[in-house]
Amino acid sequence: MRKLVLIACISLISTCYHKGFAQSDAIYPVYNGTDLGCTYRPNETSIRVYAPSADSLRVLVYKQGRGGKHTLIQSFSKAESGTWLAKLTGDWLDYYYTVQACFNGVWSMEVTDPYAKAVGVNGNRVQIISLQTTNPLGWENDVVPVYSQNNATQDAIIYEAHVRDLTMHESSGIKNNGKFIGLTETNTENHYGMPTVLSHLKELGITHLHLLPVFDYNSVDEENMNNGQYNWGYDPKNYNTPEGSYSTNSEDGKVRIKEFKQMVQAIHNAGMRVVMDVVYNHTALTNESNFNQLVPGYYYRIQTNGDFANASGCGNETASDKPMMRKFIIESVLYWVNEYHIDGFRFDLMAIHDIETMNLLADTLRKIKPDILIYGEGWAAGSPAYPEQFIALKRNVHLLKGIAVFSDDIRDAVKGYVFDSKAKGYVQGNSSMKETVKFGIVGALPHQQVNMKKAFYDKVPYANSQASVINYVDCHDNLVLWDKLQASAANQPDSIRKKMQMMAYGIVLTSQGIPFIHAGSEFLRSKKGEENSYNKPDEINAIDWDLKKANEDVFLFIQQLIAIRKQQSLFRLNSAQAIQQQVSFLTTTDDVLAYTLTAAKQTQGWKKIMVIINTSNKEMKLPCDGNWSNALSNALVTINKNSITVGAYSFTICYSND
Ligand code: CA
Repeated sequence: MRKLVLIACISLISTCYHKGFAQSDAIYPVYNGTDLGCTYRPNETSIRVYAPSADSLRVLVYKQGRGGKHTLIQSFSKAESGTWLAKLTGDWLDYYYTVQACFNGVWSMEVTDPYAKAVGVNGNRVQIISLQTTNPLGWENDVVPVYSQNNATQDAIIYEAHVRDLTMHESSGIKNNGKFIGLTETNTENHYGMPTVLSHLKELGITHLHLLPVFDYNSVDEENMNNGQYNWGYDPKNYNTPEGSYSTNSEDGKVRIKEFKQMVQAIHNAGMRVVMDVVYNHTALTNESNFNQLVPGYYYRIQTNGDFANASGCGNETASDKPMMRKFIIESVLYWVNEYHIDGFRFDLMAIHDIETMNLLADTLRKIKPDILIYGEGWAAGSPAYPEQFIALKRNVHLLKGIAVFSDDIRDAVKGYVFDSKAKGYVQGNSSMKETVKFGIVGALPHQQVNMKKAFYDKVPYANSQASVINYVDCHDNLVLWDKLQASAANQPDSIRKKMQMMAYGIVLTSQGIPFIHAGSEFLRSKKGEENSYNKPDEINAIDWDLKKANEDVFLFIQQLIAIRKQQSLFRLNSAQAIQQQVSFLTTTDDVLAYTLTAAKQTQGWKKIMVIINTSNKEMKLPCDGNWSNALSNALVTINKNSITVGAYSFTICYSND
């Protein structure tokens, strides 16, 4: 989600918050059971809901997911640790329900149970289902693909995409446009016979497909899908069910579940893993959310004046530090892994969450999937109402257990500040960014040749491992790289901007850390200059797959970068110490950045690699020792005895086996 401002700690709020905490502990007991939500049995359906402050609770059962009168209304019985239990006698398969809490004689709104696993249209009623019936054929044999020798975090190559963006354009060759099952289609082609969507991703070579929100979100009306609605989905409604608008039938909650599983199965079969973008930091609704209707004020951080704290910029911020919210988040991600075979999570505005929760979550997930990928935005949109030293902020990444953060340092150093479309980065010729690019190349770790005084964001190396950062130059937020280059290098021809795009992605895919590609940037995707496309129509967001032909040179360059990264472990060094010892920057002018990677003796592959980034408008000659060969460049490379000459605006990889 969009980052609005950098976080500053508000100690006053934090202090007051802690005073209130001991008191709330007594009112809100912790329920440790794992049966919250609905449990279906042919002879009885039981529903357990946490609502400690309610005077009473009732369930309303319906035949349909919307409209009509309830067929049953039944009171819950008060149960242990703040929970309420309802047992519906008989077979209630495929019925729907809502719950309602009563406070001081007033009934709250009818809402879904936060633990709902299936919902009807628009997620307004929970559907009672048997999950086993939602498994596609062969689901029990679904295998998580191996993506490198050790499945090490830094071996991952992430590709960020939106279900609808990938599959909506006519040039995608997809039949099920905008749907989960559009991503199960194979051998699809653009108008030039080139692979698209899943077949394209396979050909490109990425390891992890990161999907923008695919849980049930609020902003798209699932009842009226023919009016071109679009949303990224950063407005959660039911965390544990897939979004209905991506299913072929949003009325029956089972369909979206089955189709989501089919999608995961198809991506796994194509050799890639699946990462979910999750948004536990806020809910779409505030007062009217199911959390707040059932336990008013509990799941959120509240300011001293009684208002909802709002570090998400969306009206509220959840309180992961409160035990039942922490439990909810951890059980939710665990559920997605166990039920849907999800392989990783990207946490939106992760700095709203506390470190303790994130570490507990990482430990819990790694017990069942040791090589799961966990990363997030190490910032929020405002100041979280929680002490800065306890939140999952970028500069606290060293306190997180194997959870990476996005590096806005490398992002803005390479292509320019994101909130000023005209601001130039290193690839557009802003040489003052060089030191920050170097900081990015070494994965935000300390390095004796990186002068942090010259870095423009963080002045201290905040990483502490080889996989602490996600290296990227564009994502769904802000201008896509090609549009940014149009705005910031306006007086250059497309031929040079293309070279800048290749330089930028060259840096991303050769730096230490975890590389991240925004869908379509491998062939110059444009959003027509739109910098915040979260609710814009398909004309802006849908990926035009024919661009793959028009910009085939860029696609092939990025495809080769990926192949080289996968082949050469020097680009994926496995410790902070190795990065400090094996990366060596060469002395060059400010408009050229060159460094070598030197293999430890036992390593397979090239013994020495030289990466040369020439941002100037003329060719550059660099001295070298020994015998060098050119592996990849977007310009002419001439290698003579004792020198390598690279063209203007170039990104070059050379190697030596001396
Ligand atoms: Ca929805």
